[in-house]
Amino acid sequence: MEMQTEQYECAIIGGGLSGLCLAIQLAGQERSVIVFEKGRYPFHKVCGEYISMESYGFLHTLGFPFEKAGIPMISKLGISSESGFMLNQNLKSGGFGISRFLLDHELSLRARQLGVVIMEECRVNDVKQEGKAYFLQTTQGTFMAKVVCGSYGKYAPQYINEPKSGGDNNYIGVKYHIKTDFPADRIELHNFKDGYCGISKVEGDKYCLCYLTTSRNLQENGKDIRQMEEHVLFKNPFLRKYFLNSEFLYKQPLVISNVHFQKKQTVLNGVLLLGDAAGTITPLCGNGMSMGMRASKLLAVEIVRYLQNQQSAAELAANYKREWDRAFKNRITAGYYLQNLFGKKVTTDLALRFLHNAPALTDKLIGLTHGPAF
Ligand SMILES: Cc1cc2nc3c(=O)[nH]c(=O)nc-3n(C[C@H](O)[C@H](O)[C@H](O)COP(=O)(O)OP(=O)(O)OC[C@H]3O[C@@H](n4cnc5c(N)ncnc54)[C@H](O)[C@@H]3O)c2cc1C
Repeated sequence: MEMQTEQYECAIIGGGLSGLCLAIQLAGQERSVIVFEKGRYPFHKVCGEYISMESYGFLHTLGFPFEKAGIPMISKLGISSESGFMLNQNLKSGGFGISRFLLDHELSLRARQLGVVIMEECRVNDVKQEGKAYFLQTTQGTFMAKVVCGSYGKYAPQYINEPKSGGDNNYIGVKYHIKTDFPADRIELHNFKDGYCGISKVEGDKYCLCYLTTSRNLQENGKDIRQMEEHVLFKNPFLRKYFLNSEFLYKQPLVISNVHFQKKQTVLNGVLLLGDAAGTITPLCGNGMSMGMRASKLLAVEIVRYLQNQQSAAELAANYKREWDRAFKNRITAGYYLQNLFGKKVTTDLALRFLHNAPALTDKLIGLTHGPAF
């Protein structure tokens, strides 16, 4: 396989939204950047597609074409229990809905406009360090870079040597795009046994319906998604209504498995990590997309200082870790506690009924999952 002679200042493994946001910021500061993405844009991803408002201004500064996309703004929340109780709350900061199909594609176009080289259908198979240079072996040849960042998402490639996760639940994620009768300014989260399902609008006339549950739930239903939905999700009357009265736009749902939620590291084997690669928390509790975008901003600052010889590689890694912990530690801890309130028949129902009478506390809890603008 061919060895490329050009050395990039930064190589990014994974062109999801964290990697693309980082690439755009670095290229905006005249840095040479290459992104490796194993997929081909545009493509769908399992994601609830609700983005907390904290990222709106940031995406705007990156040049995301909000005006062209027709994005719904979301300011109302409903959370239901399996037995049919619905907690309603206005969202203080709220969010907006964009499909990953559109978001990642538009960001890739913007990155290219700024001179980022994007290698599509190109998987990084190994990264080796020699002196101050990194060599990335990919399905399309070997590339050289001064800094390597990993934004490869939930599944760490083997060469990263990620420590094995400590026995938490193994989840699956399932997503559909649907057409349905639902307010554009509302997001609903519906609990069922060992899981919850979100529904909210994205661009155009589409809605995203996406749920997370344990893989045990699927196994107990003969590994049949439809059977699991009918036997488990339909026990929640709201979900039953949406499943039976909507037009489903994919022939098959998009499904991912082996999903674990944990804090990982911000650097492994010299590779600086961001987005889900640095840690995932359950979607309900943390707005993972905003966390990935915020991390890209923290990391871009440190990489530029390194490339300008204002700090060493060790300082880059240490300063990024410190900033990452400062930005996310509390949010991640809160996320783990909040997670325990959901997906349980009795506890969830009691918690929602209690919160119904305590709107100030509900606001506070929601606030823990939404960060300030950046
Ligand atoms: C069920 C579910 C619902 C969710 N809902 C929401 C929500 O509503 N709102 C929210 O904010 N967050 C949500 N999240 C979390 C959110 O999806 C993630 O936090 C976000 O996608 C992380 O972005 P990322 O860029 O880190 O990773 P990704 O978007 O996963 O991108 C990683 C990219 O790397 C590529 N890649 C991987 N390995 C390689 C390789 N070796 N070589 C080249 N390319 C590679 C992949 O193809 C992929 O495109 C949800 C998560 C789940 C599981």
